[in-house]
Amino acid sequence: MKRVTSRSELSAVLAEGSGDGPRGFVPTMGALHAGHRELISRASIECGRVVVSAFVNPTQFDDATDLASYPREPEADAKLAQAAGCDVFWTPAVEDLYPDGLEADVRVTDNLTSVLCGAEEGRGPDHFAGVTTVVSRLFDAVRPDIAYFGEKDAQQLAVIRRMTADQKLPIEIRGIPTVRDPDGLALSSRNLRLDARSREQALAIPRALREAGEMAMSGERSTDSLTRHVRHLLIENGIEPEYVEARDPDDLAPVAEMNGRPVLLAVAATVGEVRLIDNVILEGRS
Ligand code: AMP
Repeated sequence: MKRVTSRSELSAVLAEGSGDGPRGFVPTMGALHAGHRELISRASIECGRVVVSAFVNPTQFDDATDLASYPREPEADAKLAQAAGCDVFWTPAVEDLYPDGLEADVRVTDNLTSVLCGAEEGRGPDHFAGVTTVVSRLFDAVRPDIAYFGEKDAQQLAVIRRMTADQKLPIEIRGIPTVRDPDGLALSSRNLRLDARSREQALAIPRALREAGEMAMSGERSTDSLTRHVRHLLIENGIEPEYVEARDPDDLAPVAEMNGRPVLLAVAATVGEVRLIDNVILEGRS
């Protein structure tokens, strides 16, 4: 595995030859865990060469304290990436991606970015402008054939798919199912900041989502009943959710009734000091 920092080093390494098969790319913010490992492993199985980036992107943070306290572990990250099959590990400097200052200038339609995590009460509408800006700059530098994103960040996945379509980029976006701890908690770099009590409390989130999934499988058609059930379970466990919503996984439009098509049931909640998100795709019965 080659480790590179500047964009010019990256270009030089990529120019050395691309191996056989497609170039895969896994963009991350570092503090890698088994969820990231799954994305990298999938890429290494499906691609000739795998590039992984680790960059804590300032323009997607609405809160300076959150940005400052985001975990940074480049040495451990490089080891995990290499073991998972990464060929080129890129840790860009801020100036590599933002040579003209920290401005977010790539956006997709508000319908996708001003709801759920992009709502004013969440991370705000500028959050996804930060995400699309950094991902489009990373794509421009890496020029992948296939890019891998986690379904855990379902809204981000929908936004990136839209951005890729809007810009007519020749990149296939592949979503990878959420990797969880054995107790059900979705893996996240932010879990490192949960104390033991908050971690225990946070388990109510996957439990509630699982129960809602079971209700849908048993024939519950009203998404209002499903979201009310999740909300109730969270509150019972001392968690005040930021949102619990049922939406179309592609265009994020609200869905009132299970209709035989997949429905995204998404939750955000702050537990202890840590904002967590999780979701399930409800299949329901047709
Ligand atoms: P992050 O470093 O949190 O920005 O995540 C980088 C990529 O890993 C994103 O595409 C995430 O959706 C994905 N990811 C994060 N956590 C998980 C998880 N538990 N399972 C699968 N993918 C994940």
